[in-house]
Parts: sequence; C-alpha cells; structure tokens
Amino acid sequence: KLFSELQDLKGNIRVYCRIRPFLPGQTEKLSTIENISENGQLVIANPSKPGKDGQRSFKFNKIFGPDATQGEVFADIQPFVKSVVDGYNVCIFAYGQTGSGKTYTMTGPTGATEEEWGVNYLALNHLFKVSQDRKCNTVYEVAVQMVEIYNEQVRDLLSSDGSPKRVGITTISQPNGLAVPEACMHPVISTSDVLDLMDIGFKNRAVSATALNARSSRSHSIVTVHVRGRNVKTGTVLYGNLHLIDLAGSERVDRSEVTGHRLREAQHINKSLSSLGDVIFALAKKSPHVPYRNSKLTQVLQSSLGGQAKTIMLVQLNPDATSFSESMSTLKFAERVS
Ligand code: ADP
Ligand code: MG
Repeated sequence: KLFSELQDLKGNIRVYCRIRPFLPGQTEKLSTIENISENGQLVIANPSKPGKDGQRSFKFNKIFGPDATQGEVFADIQPFVKSVVDGYNVCIFAYGQTGSGKTYTMTGPTGATEEEWGVNYLALNHLFKVSQDRKCNTVYEVAVQMVEIYNEQVRDLLSSDGSPKRVGITTISQPNGLAVPEACMHPVISTSDVLDLMDIGFKNRAVSATALNARSSRSHSIVTVHVRGRNVKTGTVLYGNLHLIDLAGSERVDRSEVTGHRLREAQHINKSLSSLGDVIFALAKKSPHVPYRNSKLTQVLQSSLGGQAKTIMLVQLNPDATSFSESMSTLKFAERVS
C-alpha cells in the first residue's frame, strides 16, 4: 500500500513551503505574502510595486502558513520517514535565507518542549518506534551519524572526543549507503538516546559557531539515520537511510562588501546550493547525466538522491516585506526543482 502511495507522487520529489510567523517583538509587520490557497498556490507581492503587476504566484505540493504547528508539518513527512523501514532512502532538506525558520523546522527552538520538537526528533523517534513495533520476522537496528559541511570540508559532529574531526567521503558505493564511513555511528535504542545525540551534535556545532561567528548559518548540517532490517527466517538484510539536512543560509552576499574568508564561505555556499539544485533538476528531468561531483553536499547524498530515493524540499520563507527579494530568489530555486 505504502509503495503505491509513494509511486503516485509526481517523480520522487515533493516541495513544501513553510512561512514562519512574525517574531513576538516585531512591531513593523508588513508582509509580502498576498495569498495562500488550499491547493498549494502561493501569491507573493512586491512591496514597492502595489497592485497585480507586483504579484507572482508559485505552486507547491503543500503550504504551511505561519500558524502551522510542528506536528502538522511532520504529519506530511511521516509517510516518507516510515518508508525508510521498507528500504527506501529519503532526504529531507530545509532551504531558505538565514532567519527563515530552517533550524526551527528541523530542530525546534532552543529549549524546545516536546510540542516544539522539530523534524529531526520526530522522525528519529518515529523510526525508532516503528522499528520496534514490527510484529513480523524482521529485527531492526537504528543508528545515527551527524556531520556538517563547511567550506567544502566534511566534519563529524558526533566524534567520540567531542571536537569536530574532518572526515572523507567514500567514492565506492556501499550496500548500506554509507558515504562518510569515518564519521562515528551511534546506535539508538531509546528516545533518550535520540535526545542525547542531538544535544551533542548541536553543542559541537555551537562550539564552531562561537569560534567563527554564527558559522551555523554558513554550514550545512546532515543528520543521517541508518536503518538495517534483518529477516530472522530468511536472513535477508534490508537497508534504508534518512538524511535530515539543515542547509546553509541561501541569502546572496554582496560581493562588494565582503572579502577574505567571508567571501570564500559565500562562494562555497553558493556553489553547493546551486549544485544541489542542478542535481535535483537533472533527476526531475530524468537526465542521463546527474552532476553529483560538483559539491561535497551532493557527493555525501549521492546514493540517496535519485533512483528509488524520495526527496522532500522544505522551502522556508520569512514573510517580512524587507525579505521580498530573498524570498523571490528562494521561490525561484523551488520552482526550478519542482
Ligand atoms: P534559520 O535556521 O533559517 O536561520 P531559525 O530557525 O533560527 O532560522 O528561525 C529564526 C527565528 O524565527 C528564531 O527565533 C525562531 O525561533 C523563529 N521561528 C522560526 N520559525 C518559527 C515558527 N514556525 N514558529 C515560531 N517561531 C519561529
Ligand atoms: Mg539555522
């Protein structure tokens, strides 16, 4: 049933849009969001061009407005997460400018209550529970890796000594889809394991953030959940993996204003986000050549993008009128990949 449900999807990619609310302290609340309709149509308005001329519309598989809860967002992701247990590979990306709510969606706010838990927690917990519930002859093991990609270097956020260590990407395709074999793999057997691991990973990310000034918005973080199912009667082994990706901020950086390492960061982010767009575009068009080699991000995810793999792109928007041009560039990225 699940298989046919997933087969029905146009291609293997779903593009969702999430618009975050205005923040509590915000007094000036001028929005660029003109209309959100049930069928996934979003109308955005240029604040300096009033009237129909300044409006453009974009189509999504689904739109989550400012009032959508974490649980509502996860409800539309859950079937994909569940399919990992059946041997599918799934990638879930949060894309958008810094401040648009990527981390909120994937992780939740700092000090999140259970209700505010983001996709990472809900997905991991769900997988962990599904893998335990199964009454058939299959025994499941769930394990987690977490890396960040900063300036085209991959670092292990769950290394045993606590300092993010640089790791390599394997070019040989592994049966279990392992792309970064040197990154520590942590088995998960309880909800508290999940919470502890996320905590360690985010602390490690935070360590580099203070050192390099809010680096977290300039690196991609990837939580990979590996699920291995072994049928105890037949001995057959099935692998599925889930990648949960909080992408670096997509904002354009003014080349006339930044130099040195800030410019290099911007160039790396630009390159990896456009490579990701190129790969998804090539897959959507069923192009015979998929340009995975152009960035570390697409190399790490290569075995989980394409083929039978499923992709969800969560396109995040800041509703503020001052974000209009960034929102337009985010929406154009989304339009290209959907
Ligand atoms: P990003 O990771 O894209 O830079 P954040 O996730 O850090 O953005 O969000 C920016 C701010 O907006 C944070 O203060 C966050 O708590 C808040 N925020 C984002 N999305 C929501 C939401 N759906 N509901 C409430 N607050 C949100
Ligand atoms: Mg963030």
